[in-house]
Order: sequence, then structure tokens, then C-alpha cells
Amino acid sequence: MRVLVTGGAGFIGSHLIESLVAMDHEVDVLDNFHTGRRENVELSGKVSHLYVQDVSEALLRSPQYDRIYHLACPASPVHYQSDPVHTFKTAVFGTHRMLELARSTGARLLIASTSEVYGDPLEHPQTEKYWGNVNPVGPRSCYDEGKRGAETLASDYARTLGVDLRIVRIFNTYGPRMLFDDGRVVSNFIHQALLGKPLTVYGEGLQTRSFCYVSDLVRGILLLMESNVSAIPVNLGNPNEFTIRELAMMILSKTASSSSIVNHPMPTDDPGRRCPDISRAKDLLSWSPKIELSEGLDLTIEEFRKRLVP
Ligand code: NAD
Ligand code: UDP
Repeated sequence: MRVLVTGGAGFIGSHLIESLVAMDHEVDVLDNFHTGRRENVELSGKVSHLYVQDVSEALLRSPQYDRIYHLACPASPVHYQSDPVHTFKTAVFGTHRMLELARSTGARLLIASTSEVYGDPLEHPQTEKYWGNVNPVGPRSCYDEGKRGAETLASDYARTLGVDLRIVRIFNTYGPRMLFDDGRVVSNFIHQALLGKPLTVYGEGLQTRSFCYVSDLVRGILLLMESNVSAIPVNLGNPNEFTIRELAMMILSKTASSSSIVNHPMPTDDPGRRCPDISRAKDLLSWSPKIELSEGLDLTIEEFRKRLVP
């Protein structure tokens, strides 16, 4: 198949294109390298064409794609808050651009949404039926509301214009190739531990997250795209929940690091608990994660070590 992956130079996108190339698809990538790297594309095998451009802008060429995986958007709070106006435009206008491309070419489109659409959830674990608890005017809103807007726009294109749509709500995913300065918790802690620097736990570290290894996520995304689960959101994530302090202790132990832990102020609107209910993915895609946090951290730490000391 002829496939376009936006955000293919990023963390998840690069693992996705590696799988698609290995499946012998003809893969084009679109990325502006905001948080992605050219090396990620090179690592992932032979792609047919690389558009270096903003996803909100028109494509210079527009082949007949069979599948469009739309992942382009900064995902780490540090990066998406650094230029919130651009983040919101990327989430909404970038999705609009891909919806138009899908509509005009008949491609099936998968959009990468997020557990952030649930905000600081009042229901636990989060099912797809939960509408969320989101601050519309806070520092995280550019991302949360941008992704909610993208889901709305995409659902309307599916309902009224017949776009063949898949929506994945991704929960915290980690693994090899995350940037050292990505800013998200797993990459921060591993990088800090390997350098012997203090691990920066925000607040008391009692907030929870449920961490999914990237190969599990990519398998779920590929299954969803080829399923008939059209235009309804599907949570993908690992339902095993950990406090941030527990994560810090695991990483200190696995890296045999003598780093200390320092507490930094809790960021505004940081969700207190997050855990996916993955019944829908289990029932409709026969998907569940296979790699538990301990094993996934070992694989990630190994790759971080190799990059730090080549
Ligand atoms: P990432 O930051 O590593 O990758 C995002 C990619 O998109 C980068 O290559 C970046 O350069 C590119 N990009 C950003 N803005 C762009 C723009 N305007 N035009 C073109 N390219 C642009 O993040 P990731 O973790 O790989 O996330 C990929 C997708 O998955 C994002 O849409 C994100 O919202 C979603 N997601 C990720 C997670 C996670 O835990 N990793 C969780 C929920 C949702
Ligand atoms: N966090 C932390 N130290 C860090 C980075 C993040 O304690 O160096 C916390 C953050 O406050 C949040 C959790 O770890 O509660 C996950 O943060 P991340 O940025 O990875 O993703 P989020 O789920 O918040 O988008």
C-alpha cells in the first residue's frame, strides 16, 4: 500500500514507519523536525519520500495514498507548551489538512489522539465513554483542547463527508529513540540516572501514570488501522498503574545509579491519576500489551546507554 506518516521523524512515528517499511509498504513521511530527528527516519529503513514541512501547509505533491497515519504534533508538555499557539494550530489545522487529503484521495485516515482528552479525570480507569475533565484555558489546553478539537473535526468529516476514520487515544508511551531532552518522565529519569544527576520528581511523586512500551502501541495502531472499527475512539495503553515515585525508584535500581531524588513544584493542571480501560481494544482488536514496565525499561535503558556512550 501507499502510506503517508505525518510525524514520522518523531518517537512513535519512527517505530511505526519501521514496521510499515518492513511490511513492504511504500512509505512517505511528513515532518518539520520540531521534535523529531532526520536520523529517526534513516534508522527506520527505506522511505520513499520525505516532506520536510509543517503539517498544516499544503503538500507539494499529492499522490493517491491508501493509508494516512497522522501523528504530527509535539507530545511532551515541555515542547507543546513552548509555543502553545503553534501547538493548537498543529493539532486542529494539521488534522484539517489531513482530513482534506483523505477526503480528496479516498485514503483511510488514522489520527493520533491522547489520554489528555480526559484531562484530570474524575473517573478511573478511563473508558472511551468518559467525556473528561479538561481546563479549557490552562497551560495544557493548547494540547488537550487541540486534540479534542481534532477529534471533533475528524468525527464530523466521517459523519458528513464519509472520510474513513480511525481514532486512537494513546496513553503514556515510552521506549528507545526518545530524545534526551524530550522532557517526559521516562526519558528524563533514565537520562538523569545515567548521568548521575538528581531525578526531578514533580510534586511528591504520588500522581500516577500507566506506561506502554512502544512496540505494543505500534502493534495496536496497525491493528486499528486495518480493522473495521471506524470513527470511534479506541484507548491504547498499558493498564498497569504506577506512581511517579515508584517509577523513579525502579529506574534508580535498574541503572544502579547513585542519583538522588529532588522534588520540584507540581506543574499546573498535572493530572493526578491516569489509567486506560482497554476493554474496547481487547474486544474489537484482540489487542493487549505484552511488555511490562520492568522489561520495557530494561530495553529503553540499554538503548539510552548506547546513545550516551556510542
Ligand atoms: P514526538 O514529539 O516524538 O513526535 C512528534 C513528531 O511530529 C515529531 O517528529 C515532530 O517533529 C513532528 N511535528 C510536530 N509538529 C509538527 C508540525 N506542525 N508539522 C509537521 N511535523 C510536526 O511525539 P510522539 O511521542 O512520537 O507522539 C506522536 C503522536 O502521538 C502525537 O500526535 C502525540 O500527540 C500522540 N501521543 C503520544 C503519546 C506518548 O506517550 N508518546 C501519548 C498520547 C498521544
Ligand atoms: N514528571 C516528573 N518529573 C519529570 C517529568 C515529569 O515528575 O522530570 C511527572 C509529571 O508531573 C507527570 C508525570 O511525570 O505527573 C508524567 O509526565 P510526562 O510529561 O511524561 O507526561 P504527561 O502524562 O504529564 O503528559
